[in-house]
Amino acid sequence: MTTTDSDTATSRDRGKSGAFMPARDFMTAVRELGIDPQDPRMLKLAEHQRFVEDHAPKVIPPCPAWCVQPAGHDYDGTDGSGEDLTFERTHVALDGERLAIDAILAIDAMEHNHHGTVATEVPLLYVNHEGNFDAEQARAFAAELLSAADLLATITGRAA
Ligand SMILES: [Zn+2]
Repeated sequence: MTTTDSDTATSRDRGKSGAFMPARDFMTAVRELGIDPQDPRMLKLAEHQRFVEDHAPKVIPPCPAWCVQPAGHDYDGTDGSGEDLTFERTHVALDGERLAIDAILAIDAMEHNHHGTVATEVPLLYVNHEGNFDAEQARAFAAELLSAADLLATITGRAA
């Protein structure tokens, strides 16, 4: 079995409290789902999306050198409420999609941008696996885990 985008998204979305989608994309999604865009609840949600979009950082800082996401990747979540919003995005060093075994290994760190003050968490290794390994799979997993640990040590400056 291979990992899927949704598996990877789950690992990346840890700790995220609010999805951020541009208002026009939101309304497109509403129409595609067959929901009446004039429904008052949809209008209220669209209004909120526009508010968030209007308050999004105008300048996106550079990624850490180890991030494999496209340069300048956008914020994809928010924390807080009202005008006191913190915009969040995840820098990714390893997304686990290359794993040959049915497990997710991810190395990432969330960036928080609060009115232009940017703080990025220390990258950590995330492991997710359900089910059992046979001996061959266990060895493959151990090799992937060691490789990920080496990468983490390198990007955090703690190489063994
Ligand atoms: Zn990044």
